[in-house]
Amino acid sequence: MKYIIVTGGVISGLGKGITTSSIAKILKTRGMKVTAIKIDPYLNYDAGTMNPYQHGEVFVLDDGGEVDLDLGNYERFLDENLTFDHNITTGKIYKTVIERERKGEYLGKTVQIIPHITEEIKRRIKKIGIESGADVTIIEIGGTVGDIESMPFLEAARQLWIEEGFRNVLFVHTTLVPIIDVVGEQKTKPTQHSVKELRSLGIQPDIIIGRAKEKLTTETRRKISLFCNVPYEAVISAPDAKSIYEVPLIFEEQGLGEYIMGKLQLWGENPEWKEWNRFLKNLKNPKDEVTIAIVGKYVHLKDSYISHREALAHVASKLKTKVNMKWIDSEKIEEDGPEILKGAHGILIPGGFGSRGSEGKIMAAKFARENNVPFLGVCFGFQLAVVEFARNVLGYEDANSTELQPSTSAPVIDLLPEQRDVENLGGTMRLGAQKIIIEKGSLAHKIYGKREIEERHRHRYEVNPDYIEEFEKKGLHFSGKDESGTRMEIFELKDHIFYMGSQFHPEFKSRPLRPSPLHLMLVKKAIEYKSQ
Ligand code: GLN
Repeated sequence: MKYIIVTGGVISGLGKGITTSSIAKILKTRGMKVTAIKIDPYLNYDAGTMNPYQHGEVFVLDDGGEVDLDLGNYERFLDENLTFDHNITTGKIYKTVIERERKGEYLGKTVQIIPHITEEIKRRIKKIGIESGADVTIIEIGGTVGDIESMPFLEAARQLWIEEGFRNVLFVHTTLVPIIDVVGEQKTKPTQHSVKELRSLGIQPDIIIGRAKEKLTTETRRKISLFCNVPYEAVISAPDAKSIYEVPLIFEEQGLGEYIMGKLQLWGENPEWKEWNRFLKNLKNPKDEVTIAIVGKYVHLKDSYISHREALAHVASKLKTKVNMKWIDSEKIEEDGPEILKGAHGILIPGGFGSRGSEGKIMAAKFARENNVPFLGVCFGFQLAVVEFARNVLGYEDANSTELQPSTSAPVIDLLPEQRDVENLGGTMRLGAQKIIIEKGSLAHKIYGKREIEERHRHRYEVNPDYIEEFEKKGLHFSGKDESGTRMEIFELKDHIFYMGSQFHPEFKSRPLRPSPLHLMLVKKAIEYKSQ
């Protein structure tokens, strides 16, 4: 078993997640079995209760784990499904250790960060490596070296190196190499300091990845090599890339793949980049272009909707069409009206929670329905389109979701029955992969090409079964349901270019070479709409 540990220095937001994903990809193309773990040194048990403005989107896995968005990147790059255990948090570690202490399992000992917390960290890392049968387990440690929060994790990583042997554990450190405008020179001092900090914790990096606008110059690489004590060929550039999917190839060109294989004494196949290259080529040579408006309330932080952004990138390559994303704050629609949506060839309303901005989303759904603009509503977007239809077509002026207006006289979206007695907010929604049965001959059937699918969920509310008949009568057709047939999963509107909604989140399972079918159809219809 081999381990690669990725740390970050100088500042956060260096793209450590993409670096980790790219290294994973490079090794996978050599026939290695690779898995990836994200460590988040916060006390939250998981990402589920956090606002997207904290760390971006909450990603959802097949097993229902609500995790850091980096796991979404790992899944997209590796094209593999990960589990909740692949996201280790301080919260999870402490909870286990304290529970063990309460059971008396420490046999009267004083329970301490070293060794008990570090043991639990290593136990979890090794367990994943073994269970997934990986040749290489890549572990990304969130935060920046020097943070108090990440100390136990770095200490555990150092111990892992001693225990597993230096041929089996590799440290990759990503840092910032800034350019001071007036001089125009790449500055290596921040990197030197951050490596010094890492060394003071007993960790000598094997590879340094320098983030800079441009490639690192020979001089910069020499300096980093000399002062940080790594071989010249182990100093790798991570320049700005047009697409994140280029990063593995940028690393590959610099020999990172061979270097890692050599260091870890791994023997693999010749790397296979054909499909990946074709994906990138199509992405970079579009024949057409469309604009999709994305209406949400967290639009000021693009990472809040990262899986939608990536799903649309996957579609863009598949259709050789540039997809411009126009991010629209739904509160702005409430203030200025839906006219700002004009010019978009398609409208997407992603998931969300709470009433702020929800009326603007309802206005956007109405605009799309009435103006025959291609529309996709996902989860909250699905629910609000149903509310809009109830208000303006069925004539229930006061229709709403009980999430937003508990006293509404027409609760067309209501709490799932099993949610009524739920008290804790964390991890209690209807989560993860669930089966959906699609009606034969429906548009959804045509889109998915099969009658049974599995998509990921994250919700507490659903379409109130009491109103289904009325919706159906007026043309809002539910063509996808859960296995019991009582839970609405997909709607499609008759006599509309494309007006669809899903209670599930198709964006979470979108992969570069297998884009989300619903996003694909949205863009196809947007192209059709544009050419009208
Ligand atoms: N707030 C809605 C619910 O809980 C929608 C959730 C979502 O969009 N993920 O059902």
